[in-house]
Amino acid sequence: MDCIFCKIANKEINSALIYEDDSVVAFRDLNPQAPQHILIVPKKHVANIIELDDKELAAHIFVDVVPKIAKEVGVADSGFRIVVNTGEEGGQTVNHLHVHLIGGRKMTWPPG
Ligand code: 5GP
Ligand code: ZN
Repeated sequence: MDCIFCKIANKEINSALIYEDDSVVAFRDLNPQAPQHILIVPKKHVANIIELDDKELAAHIFVDVVPKIAKEVGVADSGFRIVVNTGEEGGQTVNHLHVHLIGGRKMTWPPG
């Protein structure tokens, strides 16, 4: 399967990972929308949150990995946003589940 995030996760494409464990990698977005813009990606291919049926993986990402990276990059106290774009109208352009962690500036609401 020609999936860019599978290739990053399995090191077919060299990328500066800022976090890695048995099930997840995280790396900086190529086109950052804020001073801190990190993508948290499961190593196994899951197309989007509709296809995510692994509660252990979901909990790991949101309970363990998001807070850990938010603290490491210094946005845990100042605040940040996590975004999971899903499907065409949700703005998903890479069809491998990824959690955007965006921070380091004041966010606006609502999204465009
Ligand atoms: P989506 O729009 O699917 O929620 O987000 C996809 C994100 O992946 C975009 O913010 C885009 O900049 C980022 N992206 C796409 N290809 C690559 C890549 O090869 N490397 C990195 N680091 N980010 C990528
Ligand atoms: Zn994939």
